[in-house]
Amino acid sequence: MPIHPETITQPELDISVVIPVYNEEGNIERLHAELTEALEEIGRDYEVIAINDGSRDNTYAMLNDVQAKDSRWHVIHFRRNFGQTAAMSAGFDAARGEIVVTIDADLQNDPRDIQKILDKFDEGYDIVSGWRQDRKEPFFVRRLPSMTANRIISNSTGVKLHDYGCTLKAYHFDVAKGVRLYGELHRFIPALASQMGVRVTEVPVRDRAREWGSSKYG
Ligand code: UDP
Ligand code: MG
Repeated sequence: MPIHPETITQPELDISVVIPVYNEEGNIERLHAELTEALEEIGRDYEVIAINDGSRDNTYAMLNDVQAKDSRWHVIHFRRNFGQTAAMSAGFDAARGEIVVTIDADLQNDPRDIQKILDKFDEGYDIVSGWRQDRKEPFFVRRLPSMTANRIISNSTGVKLHDYGCTLKAYHFDVAKGVRLYGELHRFIPALASQMGVRVTEVPVRDRAREWGSSKYG
């Protein structure tokens, strides 16, 4: 079913899961299987919005296949690679869920942690951000720069999160519709939102190694 972002002014279902996807052909079947299992277990109405960010592998056809067999999935194809932030922004525009969950396509986030994020959300937050435990990435090239970035964002914004770089997050519909994303801005949403009185918190989530493909960031 086509989505018309401009007509979505209030939530029409419980959960939207937004996934930026770039050259992830080897992860898509497992992503569909693990997400379906986790979301059916949660038992709320949901849709999945996958944004194909100009992939050059077989992602295009594989996402179309999933969309054809699972009516809860909606795919947006970009004609070229615009980057993860632009992909998330298109997903936020299209989302119809009262809660908008973002997750990576590479399964480094565990879909079973969505339950934990939602439980926290239900305590009365507008943004719940995952805090990755037991990080699998190499220390010097990935974790040290990320710790430094976290410290700079914390100190300059006054919002204390341990892990701004975790894609697994949940946003209230109003927050997802209210933010316009530029550059690498998606990392700053919790900090910016908190300054506007939005209630932000974090919960520990699992971190897994990427089993197929490689990171798009060096
Ligand atoms: N991604 C995207 N566009 C890009 C780069 C990445 O949509 O230009 C997606 C990618 O498919 C994945 C997520 O964004 O779902 C995070 O990318 P990646 O795993 O490469 O980043 P890392 O986990 O290494 O930070
Ligand atoms: Mg990744």
